[in-house]
Order: sequence, then structure tokens, then C-alpha cells
Amino acid sequence: MIKRILSLALLTVLVTAVFGGCSAKEKEHTVSFFAMNTYMSVSAYGENSRLAAEQAQAEVTRLDRLWSVTDSGSELFALNSLNSGNSNSVSDDTAELIRFSLEMAELTGGAFDPTIYPVLTAWGFTKDENRVPEDAEIAELLTKTGYRKISQNGNLISLADGTMLDFGAVAKGAAADRTAEIMRENGITSALINLGGSITVIGKNPDNSDWRIGIKDPFGEDYIGILSLSNASAVTSGAYERNFTAADGTVYGHIIDPSTGRPADNDLASVTVISENAALCDALSTALFVMGSEKAVQFCNENGTAYGFDIILITKDKELILSGGAAEKFRLTDKSSTISAD
Ligand code: AMP
Ligand code: MG
Repeated sequence: MIKRILSLALLTVLVTAVFGGCSAKEKEHTVSFFAMNTYMSVSAYGENSRLAAEQAQAEVTRLDRLWSVTDSGSELFALNSLNSGNSNSVSDDTAELIRFSLEMAELTGGAFDPTIYPVLTAWGFTKDENRVPEDAEIAELLTKTGYRKISQNGNLISLADGTMLDFGAVAKGAAADRTAEIMRENGITSALINLGGSITVIGKNPDNSDWRIGIKDPFGEDYIGILSLSNASAVTSGAYERNFTAADGTVYGHIIDPSTGRPADNDLASVTVISENAALCDALSTALFVMGSEKAVQFCNENGTAYGFDIILITKDKELILSGGAAEKFRLTDKSSTISAD
């Protein structure tokens, strides 16, 4: 069941603020670091917290080196430098992420597409030198994109001529899943993993209550409400996260609609996806942002149960749309708004 909240005075997105006490008696260890072009922090509680947090940082750093699209020493860079017709044997980590990315691309009808990088570059998002490309340039670049131009046979990967892979929409989620695994391997039963806004919580917080995750207002600095989660991930996508304003005043965001080669421009301001699988949250939050609210709601109705995810959509009209599971876990900050089911 989908619920809609109308007439919100205030709205947001991007999961950033995290609330919840941590009692002094619990052993806590936090690592903060920069990886995958973003700030990350991992807080683990209890015995082994230091070891677990340090292992997590090392692992995320290793995955960053493997999956960086710009670092000439990365496995992805080597793959993107291949001549068409040749194939590379990649690590199990990369092979699994490509397999998952292809599954997500297929599932979302190509709204999620890991080959969009050349188009993203044309819009200047990869170098922060933004520009609006000509239609002909976009059309030419679209001949190089499309997830079907990736061939995978186990660990053997080949790409069509000029096609490039980029895990920008899914790597942080995949790294969060790996971090959660490391926590569990170390016997950690309480942890908060924040990989640049891709949030995963293990167990309950040290006060033995659900972790409270603030959902940020896409139109301002505040948060619109709080998600109560345990053993779950929440990932938000929105154009407000990274965009530029062209000379004519048009705002262009960093999430590209693969069918047009232009920044997604529909009724959505942000999408949050909640599930036990952070990589799924990451891929789907990007894809649903491309779809717009109508298709995103339909997609959730068709796949939410099978894939085990819930959604929170915030529209540009400041309407909040929640799937049933999300509505149970979400409390609005602004109590004057009402939630209605339809
Ligand atoms: P996210 O912040 O997870 O929504 O991912 C956005 C990033 O993914 C962008 O900065 C691009 O690197 C890449 N990207 C943009 N559009 C798409 C798309 N339609 N499918 C897959 N990746 C995309
Ligand atoms: Mg994503």
C-alpha cells in the first residue's frame, strides 16, 4: 500500500543526520575517512569494535582502488581502456558487482545503467567543469552507452567499442554491504555505517533502541522526518546533491536519464530506498529517481515484496509518497501534516 502525505510545509532528502544515544559503558570505535569521492564514517560498538572499524576502512579503501573510474591503477580503469573485442579477467569482487549492475539495469528497464559515464563526462560532472552539450554530441555518445554493450562470462568481461563502466551509483552501497559483513564476522551486534549518505545500521543502537536516521529536506538544510531502523540500509538519491545552473537558469543534476542522455527531469526531488541490501538501495534510489513518481510507485508495487525494499519519494510539489513498510518506520518532524492512504 502506498501512502501519501500532502501539504508538507517543509521537505528534504539525503539521509544525513543520525540520532541516538550511545551509553558511555559501551566500547565504541569510530573511523572517519575519505573514499569513493565522499566522506565516510563507521562506528562499531562492543568487543572488537576497533578491529572491526579498522578492517572496514581498509576494505572500503581496497574496493575504492579496484572500482575508481579515474585512478589509472584501478581494475575498472584497465577494463575501460580495453580495445573492443578483447576481454579482461576481473576479480571476484568486480565480477559480482558487474553481475549485480546488469541485473539492476535489466530490472529497471535501463533506468539504472552502469555505462552512462561518457554522457556524464560530456555534461562535465566528472570534472566539475559543467556544460550543456549539443543534441548531436549527446546522440553520438548514446551510441556508446547501454548496458547490453557489456558482455560477461563469469570473471571475463568485454565492452563494445567506446563503452565505459562506472559504478558511481552502486559502489557505496556495495561497500556498505561488505562493511556490514565485516562487522558481523567480528561479532559486532551494534554499528552505524555511513558511506557518504549510504547508511547501514547493524542491530540496535547501544541504548538498545532502533537507530534513528534523519531524512533530509531536498529544498533546505533541515530534515523532514526520522526513520527508525535496525539491521537495514537506507540510501537517498536526488539532483540537489550535485548539480549546476546553466546560463539560462536551468538546473541540471548529476543523475542521467539513459534514454535521453540528459539529466533526469521529472516530478521527483528525491528518492530514498530502504532494504537489508545496501547495494540494492543504492542502485534503485538512482533508478527510481530517473523514473519519476508514477513509474517508481508502479515499480515498487511490482517488485518491492520480491526484492524486499520500501521507498520514500519526495516530489518537487512537496508531496511525500511512502510504501507501507516505510510508513511504519517513518515519523514526520512536522506533526501538522497528515498521512493518507490511497
Ligand atoms: P547516486 O548518488 O547513487 O544516485 O548515483 C549517482 C551517480 O551515478 C552519478 O554521479 C553518476 O556517476 C552515476 N549515474 C548517473 N546517472 C546514472 C544512471 N542512470 N544509472 C547509473 N549510474 C548513473
Ligand atoms: Mg545510487
